[in-house]
Amino acid sequence: MSAMLELRALDAYYGMSQALHGISLSLQRGEAAAILGANGAGKTTMLRAISGMVRTGGEILVAGERVDGRKAEKVARLGVAHVPEGRGTFGRLSVEENLRVGGHGSSRTAMAEGIERAYSYFPRLKERKHQQAGLLSGGEQQMLAISRALMMQPRLLLLDEPSFGLAPLVVSEIFENLRRIRADSGLTVLLIEQSSEHALAFAEYAHVLESGRLMISGSAAEIAGNDAIRAAYLGG
Ligand code: ATP
Repeated sequence: MSAMLELRALDAYYGMSQALHGISLSLQRGEAAAILGANGAGKTTMLRAISGMVRTGGEILVAGERVDGRKAEKVARLGVAHVPEGRGTFGRLSVEENLRVGGHGSSRTAMAEGIERAYSYFPRLKERKHQQAGLLSGGEQQMLAISRALMMQPRLLLLDEPSFGLAPLVVSEIFENLRRIRADSGLTVLLIEQSSEHALAFAEYAHVLESGRLMISGSAAEIAGNDAIRAAYLGG
């Protein structure tokens, strides 16, 4: 069976400037991988490249199908959901309306089931279902962004720094729920994190980027246990 995600010599560009250089990696179905690296290393760009938001060179395959050069909507339709940096929920819409936007186009039954599923993972969203998303706490907004992305029952979830700006307890709660979601659905996850601790505990594999280049790939346990790698790339 083909990998859920395969990058072959992936380059990415903003205008004339090249942000990713020849990245190759693969991610099997049901696995989670963390992309680690400092500010500006190219982590966000990698997710944008996969979801068709920046100009790329090389090849991107989702479940064996080439998606490079396709429009973002088409990539999304193939089952790739992207939770961007800053979360991207609609602040003026209610929690439930945000979930409905996420499930746009699905049947009435699938929509209702998706909303119930989201509320079962994140009961706080149920309590606040009529509240404007913009008034939620940062952690609740992250829960909503993840839930909204899951409304289409994606095969591959791209998560851009879910811990950003959140208190440690909230981060732990979010990762715990992501674990449950993976266990229940077999979802494949590509996760970006600047702080490596949670990411390495959550993912089975990790890739370290520096200046748009892939420096190290390995099991999360190997990377977590390697002091030299941690000191050189992950801030100790
Ligand atoms: P951060 O954690 O700060 O988001 P990152 O690892 O996600 O860092 P990217 O945001 O992917 O890094 O940035 C990679 C490189 O691409 C950086 O040199 C950045 O300045 C550049 N870059 C990012 N977005 C743009 C853009 N819209 N236009 C031009 N250059 C950009």
